Amino acid sequence: MSEDSKEEIDALFWMRRWIIGTVTALVVLVSSLIFYFSSTWTNFLLETLEEATILVPSLLISSYLTYTLDLKYRKVKTGYSGYARNSLSYLYIVIPFWVMSAAIILSFGRTYLTFLYLDIMLAVILTGLAVNIRVQIWKRSSKEISNSRIIEGAKRIAEKMGVEITGFREVNWSRAKIANAFQAGLRHRYVFVTNFMIDNLTEDEDLAIIAHEMAHAKMNHLTKTMVFVGIDLLLIGNALFAFIVFTLNYGAKLGLVFGIAASVFVTAYILLPILQRRFEREADLVAATLTNPRLLADSLLKISRLNHTPINIHWQWNPSHPSTSERIAYLKELENRGKDIPDGIGGRSTRT
Ligand SMILES: [Zn+2]
Repeated sequence: MSEDSKEEIDALFWMRRWIIGTVTALVVLVSSLIFYFSSTWTNFLLETLEEATILVPSLLISSYLTYTLDLKYRKVKTGYSGYARNSLSYLYIVIPFWVMSAAIILSFGRTYLTFLYLDIMLAVILTGLAVNIRVQIWKRSSKEISNSRIIEGAKRIAEKMGVEITGFREVNWSRAKIANAFQAGLRHRYVFVTNFMIDNLTEDEDLAIIAHEMAHAKMNHLTKTMVFVGIDLLLIGNALFAFIVFTLNYGAKLGLVFGIAASVFVTAYILLPILQRRFEREADLVAATLTNPRLLADSLLKISRLNHTPINIHWQWNPSHPSTSERIAYLKELENRGKDIPDGIGGRSTRT
């Protein structure tokens, strides 16, 4: 199959996945809004039940559609149950609406009490992000990378980079066929790689990707992301609430929903991706100078192909990362400059 037709098929696959995800998110969001605006203390449980009756089948259908797409395009070897469990992550959108409704009921119409609840909720969201349950699960379900040459190479690069990594962990995603790597842990830094990536890349290519993850740790990208998200959520959330309630006089119920939903949306889908794409580029450049720009570019290309990610992916489909073609272009430029990077790249989450 030619590279062009492969790219076209991958683009179709991603577009379909994106449509399923977006439609599901809209169903979840609209049903949650209806629930929120129609719930009172007398019908709270009934409304919750009603929303669950709409959501559970929607989530099951959506995860089943994603599963059939993965079977068709990526030829995954897993069963459907993992997808059903994954679709439950949409509950992260639903639960705040349930909690918000409870908060409105418990505020008894008092505006400043609602304002306080808004900030408590934003603090809970931030704590949840910092603890990151998924990372805790990965820590337990992963094991130390078994290839000792990769571990030794990674340690050498860490020393050159001047970064301390607590563990290099291998996650078993070979049946799900996901080739990926990510850095996690704010205090103790871990680098996770999937064994599907290790098995399909050469040792040097694996090391180039691991170097990229270590660069994220070196430049404290995760901590900076958390600080950015925290400031963003609090500023936007409080400002929106104050504007809607005190300037427009639209009431605490509308103020609360805008304070939470709009601040999360603006932060997660607009502001954060701008920062993340910048961090990715920085991590690429630092990793490439310590390994080899062409090696890193080749590894990124291979990972894209393994994951069936279009090389020229539209930013909307994967907002947190520059497209692989863009990354290859600036790595090539770096290679042409003969690894001659000016000082000052240092400084600045995080998947590959
Ligand atoms: Zn990265």
